[in-house]
Amino acid sequence: MPAPERETVVIGAGVIGAAAALALRRAGRAVALLDADRVAAGASGWSGGVARVFHLDAEEAARAAYGLPILRDLARAIGVGVPFHETGYLYFPKPQDREAALAAARALAPEHGTEFVGAGQLATLYPGLALSGEGAIHEPRAGFADPRAVALAYAEAFVRAGGRSLEGVRVGALAPDAGGVRLETTLGPIHADQVVLAAGYATPGMLDALGVAHDLFSRSIQVTLFEPPHRIVAPAFTDEELDVYGKPDPASGGLYVGAPTTAESRGEIAAEPVDADHVGRTMAAARDRFGWMDAARPRGGLRHADCYSARGRGEVFRLPGALSRIVVAAGFSGGGFKMAPWAGEAAAALVAERAADAA
Ligand SMILES: Cc1cc2nc3c(=O)[nH]c(=O)nc-3n(C[C@H](O)[C@H](O)[C@H](O)COP(=O)(O)OP(=O)(O)OC[C@H]3O[C@@H](n4cnc5c(N)ncnc54)[C@H](O)[C@@H]3O)c2cc1C
Repeated sequence: MPAPERETVVIGAGVIGAAAALALRRAGRAVALLDADRVAAGASGWSGGVARVFHLDAEEAARAAYGLPILRDLARAIGVGVPFHETGYLYFPKPQDREAALAAARALAPEHGTEFVGAGQLATLYPGLALSGEGAIHEPRAGFADPRAVALAYAEAFVRAGGRSLEGVRVGALAPDAGGVRLETTLGPIHADQVVLAAGYATPGMLDALGVAHDLFSRSIQVTLFEPPHRIVAPAFTDEELDVYGKPDPASGGLYVGAPTTAESRGEIAAEPVDADHVGRTMAAARDRFGWMDAARPRGGLRHADCYSARGRGEVFRLPGALSRIVVAAGFSGGGFKMAPWAGEAAAALVAERAADAA
């Protein structure tokens, strides 16, 4: 009897791991998706779920542009639908990046309608938002989807396609073994053909354990839900000038505003309670953009770690040498939701490439 085909194992059922698992399964591989907790237990379950194409960096924009139509119509792309809320998106560049931002907007304009919009027009587009400043780059078709629902949709499409999803299975040590990778798990050892490591905030620690040099670390993101004193129509936004970002919460009529935290770790932190000092700092930073911020009421928020890279962008790469059967998809630095469709395909392509090399 021939030996059963070894599975490709995806570690971490966040939106990135679930997208990778589906892409691998669609490419005809036997795949197991393992999560220490459950699907979307990590950053993907706490994310803002904002998806937009505009980035200063053209490659980042191309990756996001690959994902946006998929996230806008997930039912068509993967057979399991999640509503997409088109809110529009504003990008406020740092003063020194203004010219680069205008050039990036022009380059993306034909396909994505990105353009600089002055303060007067913004006031018409987004009544009540009361923005200071001269205006911003506007991307009209951006918006958000429930990130937890999107991760669950990918996992469901993966299982429908014949993949195995195992929750509550923690992966410990990884080591190369003959023709594959040995994973120590809470279910016992698993021998995988190849591995996609998509453990989000836990990835830096797992790479440390493998003795691999890397530039990844984990850091918490906190977003606070502010209730404005009057009704507003708000887009999603990134304010590079004031270092805040956010999105509307149509359910409450409020606005989530996030500001970076500074504590870094190698991967021990996950979900944490919202920090009151950080709420104050967020409010202080956002005050210069939103005229009503002083009269707003903070309504709590969300705080969870994500995996960052020193370059500030996620990457999908194969480990070198004896570890070349391990593909890493990590470092998305607070922006991985919108990159998931691209990252999943990129991970599957690297796995296929390694399989072709071995054949
Ligand atoms: C508050 C907040 C707001 C955000 N807003 C946005 C946004 O608006 N737009 C955007 O594009 N991005 C946003 N992000 C970033 C985005 O959510 C993340 O980059 C993305 O969800 C990361 O997905 P992931 O699959 O890599 O990791 P995760 O979702 O963290 O998944 C990792 C999974 O690995 C599992 N795991 C960990 N260790 C192990 C182990 N040893 N064995 C097995 N499983 C393990 C965990 O249980 C977890 O389920 C936000 C993030 C946060 C925290």
